[in-house]
Amino acid sequence: MSRRGQIHFISHNAPKNKRVLLRVDFNVSLSKSRRISDDVRIREAIPTIKLLLENKNKVIVVSHLGRPEGRRDVRYSLSPVARRLGEFLPKKYSVKLVAGFESDNDKKIFETQGENEVIMLENIRFWGGEQKNDPEFAKALASLADVYVNDAFGVSHRADASVVGVAKYLPSYGGLLLKHEIQEIDDIIDVPRAPIVSIIGGAKIETKVPVISKLIEFSDTVVVGGAIANTFLAAKGTKVGKSLVEDEEEALARKIMRLAEEHGTELVLPQDVVVGTLDGDTSEVCDLSEVPTGKMILDIGPKTEALLGEIVARARTIIWNGPMGYNENPQFARGTEFLFYSIANSSAKSLVGGGDTIVSIAKEEHLENITHISTGGGAMLEYIEHETLPGIEALRAVTRN
Ligand code: ADP
Ligand code: MG
Repeated sequence: MSRRGQIHFISHNAPKNKRVLLRVDFNVSLSKSRRISDDVRIREAIPTIKLLLENKNKVIVVSHLGRPEGRRDVRYSLSPVARRLGEFLPKKYSVKLVAGFESDNDKKIFETQGENEVIMLENIRFWGGEQKNDPEFAKALASLADVYVNDAFGVSHRADASVVGVAKYLPSYGGLLLKHEIQEIDDIIDVPRAPIVSIIGGAKIETKVPVISKLIEFSDTVVVGGAIANTFLAAKGTKVGKSLVEDEEEALARKIMRLAEEHGTELVLPQDVVVGTLDGDTSEVCDLSEVPTGKMILDIGPKTEALLGEIVARARTIIWNGPMGYNENPQFARGTEFLFYSIANSSAKSLVGGGDTIVSIAKEEHLENITHISTGGGAMLEYIEHETLPGIEALRAVTRN
């Protein structure tokens, strides 16, 4: 890890009386009717926003939502998020959603930002320059403010303009959530107690499979569930019907299986599964040899749950990211729920994270039994892998000292 420069975190002393460009991760899940399914990520950033406001700063909030791929698309507007943010702030503050920042008219809105006004810029991924980390785009964004604050742990593994780029042009700070995430994760991974069990599920195969290699080195046992497991099962010759599988990744899955053997790491895949269709209102448990050709694997089965229960019970450190099944449909939510309660009942130190993962457990009881719930999924895993992230490195004040 690069320790060349110090990171400054915001405090009661600084920044004060500045225009602050604040990157947050308000990438919340929206329902089909565009209601916010869970607002944890908004709530987690409130202490930072409140502190910045108490310090008499003018705050410009920047976030992405979903993957609009550089195009303006109302389905990904931050308007429900701006409204929800307003509900969490003291009454005297209003939140104003602003569509752009480049035209003279737009610039005027920023120049005349009121004392008690928080500006939220529309979804930053409406601009193609964001994910390309275009320097001109970053510079234009930076010109809106005197100071940059990153409180977006969940997206700090992305070298995007509003995460990494703007820090080149402005004095930069970490926010309180970023600080808390780093401290809590360091606490768990710096001196982990064995046995270490890592559990990976969810669907973002291309981002997660590479990280699994690192987890294989780091852990005594790695459990793979969710849609990601389908790729592993397919690579082993299991007929997975219509399940979500990424053929290109099968070779990688095989490589990971070999790596596990070399390291003597136990790699656990589903032993049985629950199959059905995405919107179906029925489901069926079956063994791996019996997956019907027309159906999808959408959850882990009861035998697998029992095995997971045993593994979790003997673990002393647990890292979990990604639902075990397609839990948006309650038919396929059981595996994830079972896993959550196994972890909550264990005495192990536990680190649980991921946008969809936290949504899937948000309404459960005993959340307090989890040592740390991270707002980051990919970010949490990459932080474990590299012990830092691009967004964190960008805050190191090397050039300015
Ligand atoms: P996180 O946001 O917690 O990092 P991901 O975004 O990787 O998690 O994955 C979450 C998504 O994976 C959820 O939408 C869930 O429905 C989906 N998923 C999990 N298992 C399956 C499966 N077997 N088939 C299809 N989708 C699945
Ligand atoms: Mg997700």
